[in-house]
Amino acid sequence: SLSDRLGGVFDRLRGRGALTEADVRAAMREVRVALLEADVALPVARDFVDQVTEKAIGHNVLRSVTPGQQVVKIVSDALTEMLGSDQSDLLLDVTPPAVVMMVGLQGSGKTTTAAKIAKRLKEKDRKKVLMASLDVNRPAAQEQLATLGTQTEVATLPIVAGQRPVEIASRAMQAAKLQGYDVLILDTAGRLHVDQALMDEMKAIADVSNPAEILLIVDSLTGQDAVNVAQSFSDQVPLTGVVLTRLDGDARGGAALSMRAVTGKPIKFAGTGEKLDALEAFHPQRIAGRILGMGDVVSLVEKAAESIQAEDAERMAAKLAKGQFDMNDLRGQLAQMRRMGGLGALAGMIPGMKKAQAAMASGAVDEKILVHMDAMIGSMTVKERAKPALINAKRKIRIAKGSGTTVQEVNKLLKMHLEMSNAMKKIRKMGGLKGLLGMMG
Ligand code: GDP
Ligand code: MG
Repeated sequence: SLSDRLGGVFDRLRGRGALTEADVRAAMREVRVALLEADVALPVARDFVDQVTEKAIGHNVLRSVTPGQQVVKIVSDALTEMLGSDQSDLLLDVTPPAVVMMVGLQGSGKTTTAAKIAKRLKEKDRKKVLMASLDVNRPAAQEQLATLGTQTEVATLPIVAGQRPVEIASRAMQAAKLQGYDVLILDTAGRLHVDQALMDEMKAIADVSNPAEILLIVDSLTGQDAVNVAQSFSDQVPLTGVVLTRLDGDARGGAALSMRAVTGKPIKFAGTGEKLDALEAFHPQRIAGRILGMGDVVSLVEKAAESIQAEDAERMAAKLAKGQFDMNDLRGQLAQMRRMGGLGALAGMIPGMKKAQAAMASGAVDEKILVHMDAMIGSMTVKERAKPALINAKRKIRIAKGSGTTVQEVNKLLKMHLEMSNAMKKIRKMGGLKGLLGMMG
């Protein structure tokens, strides 16, 4: 699995520091291989890896997980985000009949999915649904839909021999209007490969039926070609969503990422079997896991992150209760700021830190200042850190020398610490521990 492979990459990485650029690049080569093995289209995999590399560099590794696992989590989060939300509702809020048009290659699962969606709309949403097959190419295609209609107890448009797809679509519209159907599902013909005749037919059908939803049905086993299929349909038909079928099989689900990247449309459903209730909402996180082949690493890392945050908060709370906020705590907050590129849990409430953060965000202060502060604290003795009041002029000179900074900078740091601990005391007086923790959470 990817996490095993990343384990190899990170074997030499000792300790639990931030992920370096070299480490991340090495890891991302493995991620790229994993994506390609999961049938993510090459250009999509490349773009994705470039984006995530930026995000991962400098990320801190949690104490209770390995760097490999941490990278898997970062990649999985990015992947989940790219795959979109699990909002899978069809948008059918139009003057009835709302038309849902199914498009895709032959054998992708259009007819089956049409029946699955019809069943779902009927049972879950109490909609009155009519289905019509516009597939005049494949022998018995219209009968196939009629049979599925009988099985699901959903009405199908009576078959009239010799009509062209656009004529059938018009007749279906007419029938749906006259008979008061809420939804009309148009099942179209596919081809083995994308061709212009197919696209022209799809455009003509869309013109006469003005669909509320045009769903591209894609077999998740399609592999590298999925991206071309999606591109052709997306260029020529105004798609509103994607349905990924055969996710019950061996497919690693890479097609999902390609679909999202190329069409920019949500994946509304996942087909998970031949049975007519085997239609599920699309779960980005599950597919991300499947693409990366990583089991439950993600939840492991999430748990680790949670427990560490809780640990930090508890430790901090105990200190505050005693009215303590020493240099070690300040150092922790600075590290958090660097790591997250934002305020630490506590720092957000401190006036001085807020200013520092704003300056950082505006580019007026760069990360170097945080690095300097960290170095100064590093040059303090254990006693000085615990009790900064000990730091007199002589000690300031020593700390400045030890950290390659100036006495002025040491003074600034001490002032900042003083402001922060004063603010802590104020918070304690105002709301006490509970109030503070409330704000933190
Ligand atoms: P169409 O040519 O696009 O209309 O494809 P069909 O709906 O006729 O489906 C082709 C085959 O794929 C049929 O045997 C379906 O039972 C099967 N099929 C469709 N969706 C799924 C799915 O999600 N999982 C599995 N295992 N089979 C599916
Ligand atoms: Mg069909």
